[in-house]
Amino acid sequence: MSAEEYPQAPGLGTVQIHGGTTDPPSARPVRPPLYLTASYEFDTLRDARECFGQREPGFTYSRTGSPTVGLLERRLAELEGGVGAVATSSGQAALTLTLLALAGRSGQSQDGEPHPEIPAGHVVASNRIYGGTADLLNDTLAEAGIAVTWVDPHRPNEWERAVTERTRAFLVESVGNPHADLPDIPDIAAIAHAAGSALVVDNTLATPHLLQPGKLGADVVVHSVTKYLTGNGSALAGIVVDTGRFSPSSDAARWPQFTAPRRRFGNQSLVAGHGEHGAFLHLVRAQLLNDLGPSLAPWNAQQALDGIETLDVRVDRHCRVAEGIARRLASHPRVRSVRHPSLPGSSDAAIADRDFPRGTGAVLSFEIDGTTDDVERFFDSLELFKLAANLGDGRSMATHPAWTTHCRLTPELREAGEITEQTVRLALGREDVEDLWQDLSTSLDRVTGASPNQAPTAREKETVRA
Ligand SMILES: *Cc1c(COP(=O)(O)O)cnc(C)c1O
Repeated sequence: MSAEEYPQAPGLGTVQIHGGTTDPPSARPVRPPLYLTASYEFDTLRDARECFGQREPGFTYSRTGSPTVGLLERRLAELEGGVGAVATSSGQAALTLTLLALAGRSGQSQDGEPHPEIPAGHVVASNRIYGGTADLLNDTLAEAGIAVTWVDPHRPNEWERAVTERTRAFLVESVGNPHADLPDIPDIAAIAHAAGSALVVDNTLATPHLLQPGKLGADVVVHSVTKYLTGNGSALAGIVVDTGRFSPSSDAARWPQFTAPRRRFGNQSLVAGHGEHGAFLHLVRAQLLNDLGPSLAPWNAQQALDGIETLDVRVDRHCRVAEGIARRLASHPRVRSVRHPSLPGSSDAAIADRDFPRGTGAVLSFEIDGTTDDVERFFDSLELFKLAANLGDGRSMATHPAWTTHCRLTPELREAGEITEQTVRLALGREDVEDLWQDLSTSLDRVTGASPNQAPTAREKETVRA
């Protein structure tokens, strides 16, 4: 605080808050700085009015963006070859905002406004998908009136048959969770576009290092940035990327939320105000992120930015570890089947060769040849693998989809997705393959039915010690 600004010496209560803060920053940090601020100052009321009225760019309040989060958005947009991005507090939030923007109520009206009496839109979604996404569509988006039809992503005619007048989005994972299956994205994109629908691809398991879905026809790419992009299991984050191929004006009557003049946006259409490639993201940011509030914390954005710097070397290593484990698992007598596209004879080998030259990621699933007691014994005897529901961490993790990540699926959806009580999902980390295999094979060797001389599991040992 300078003497010119405060001719009368300010009280300590004022100095506590304003002391030392008015000098312009002279440092130029090499690492992207962390802007921990809720709001942004304006020089004049006119500047504030124009910025809040969205007639001039700028930061107003960190719910709709901040410099640290903005850098993450631009970096991920570039990595996906897209035109822009909006970051969110989690992958779930990224999916929620995307589907509300495309398939919400206002997209079904004449004037682009959300008339309560008009039903919302419809989504056709792959049935081999993250359990949280299934919950979102079956419960929460259903409450908002958005309908869903689940289809086998590998059957083109199921996608075609599911389309209705209200369909506005197709949703698929580029690498499916939990079975690491690879849908034919160019094929699904062609069906979606013929039906006048946008294709949303969840690219979490692949990352842009392995696949850029926009190049294969996706309109919107979403990620759980929590996973491989951040890469250390420290923080939740999500992203919505506009790949630049979605163009609402080419079928204006179908997309009134973007093409009709909207009360909320100064009686202008979003396309008129923000362009063909800015309309979707502006709705996501300026309405949905602003109103619902699942904003990314700058601290979490910085964790993601740090992680992304090493994405390529990490993902390459993850892939090699997963390939080594998949091969070993496939020859273990207690393993009935292994699903990973790197395995010879995999039904997805052709798509892996065509679309994934660097590998197909580090999630795989396998079926234990045993009872549910065997399955429990297997999990409880793991030492190096963490029994945890995450992926993309450097630590390898083992998950039981039917009882954890996918536990709320309807029985029909679980059956259609081929998730049984014997299904194990592994998210391979970056440890040494031999150590991981030692842990897995030791635990699999316990899946024997009833050998009287079995060594106690780690958990049994704990119990004995207690
Ligand atoms: C984890 C995950 C999500 C949800 O992301 P969060 O960051 O946990 O909210 C969505 N899709 C896939 C494929 C995921 O693995």
